[in-house]
Amino acid sequence: MYTEQIDLKVISEDQRKHALDRAGEIIRSGGLVAFPTETVYGLGADGMNAEACARIYEAKGRPSDNPLILHIAGMAQVDEIAREVSPEARKVMDAFWPGPLTVILPKQACVPDRTTGGLDTVAIRMPSHPDAREFILRSRRIIAAPSANASGKPSPTLARHVYEDMKGRIPMILDGGPVGIGIESTIVDMTGDCPVILRPGYMSREEIAEVTGQVRIDPAIAGRTMSKDVVAKAPGMKYRHYAPKGQMILVEGDVSQVVQKINELAAQRQAEGYRVGIIGTDETVPCYQGGIVKSIGSREHPETVAASLYRILREMDASGAEYIYSESFFREEMGDAIMNRMLKAAGYRVITCGR
Ligand code: AMP
Ligand code: MG
Repeated sequence: MYTEQIDLKVISEDQRKHALDRAGEIIRSGGLVAFPTETVYGLGADGMNAEACARIYEAKGRPSDNPLILHIAGMAQVDEIAREVSPEARKVMDAFWPGPLTVILPKQACVPDRTTGGLDTVAIRMPSHPDAREFILRSRRIIAAPSANASGKPSPTLARHVYEDMKGRIPMILDGGPVGIGIESTIVDMTGDCPVILRPGYMSREEIAEVTGQVRIDPAIAGRTMSKDVVAKAPGMKYRHYAPKGQMILVEGDVSQVVQKINELAAQRQAEGYRVGIIGTDETVPCYQGGIVKSIGSREHPETVAASLYRILREMDASGAEYIYSESFFREEMGDAIMNRMLKAAGYRVITCGR
């Protein structure tokens, strides 16, 4: 299959409308279109069409029990797919939509099992990215979309990443340039008495608590290790994810000790003949002595770290790094979401300095 890429930033307004109309036609005929959102690129299909959703799983190589998020462009669409919407859930949607927050609600019978992985609940999000909103509106459908990467790989933050993973597998990629946020939406389960965060994301627990008063965190994602005894409520959280090809190791502790430790570890591996990558920050990059050194952003501005994370992991792959040593960001703002992704990318390998 030929994969057409359309750069929405460089074409005229008429051409843009035409491209989005064609994307809508592909969706209505059961096909797949990759599109930008404010979090990461999504791989969209008609969410009410089970066969179209099956194509998403096939294109990504995604396990069939890992449900999809349904993307909407207007509040009226919520009641088409959710059975019960509590006043609390309405408050959360009003406060954070359009934006990087997904709510879990009981599903309507019309939502196919293929979309929800057989669950009785449905994940819903209203993205804020103008291209995403227009794409959903012009398709006149509710769009089921996971991240547009091959299953297990880092999520795409550039159209080029989508092309790398989906070339020949999907007919169309809408290129809206680099995404703004760079990590996936926060997922909040609103089916019980107390909202529960099933996946940390850009919207923090504190921001959600300002609206709902109380918020819990799913015990399966609270720790720094992959919990064996607790089952994650978001099925996707149990899978290996975001992983680069090389073996990634996080080093945490006081920053100057971390830099020293990474320099030592990198030198050892290089002496053994391995190609070594180092993920540092704007502040520390000049302190590294060898290897393929990349800055993931500034320690002062965690949003820059979130925005670069997946791109840097892909660049490490492209550089052929066999071992990747990375600084960590446990205590920073947004640290939960960033570290959740980095811990998975590193297979939960963490070295702590100074203890
Ligand atoms: P992705 O689209 O790749 O960001 O993955 C979607 C995430 O949403 C996965 O971690 C899913 O397990 C989670 N998810 C989707 N639907 C549900 C649901 N009904 N209940 C819990 N988690 C869900
Ligand atoms: Mg994903």
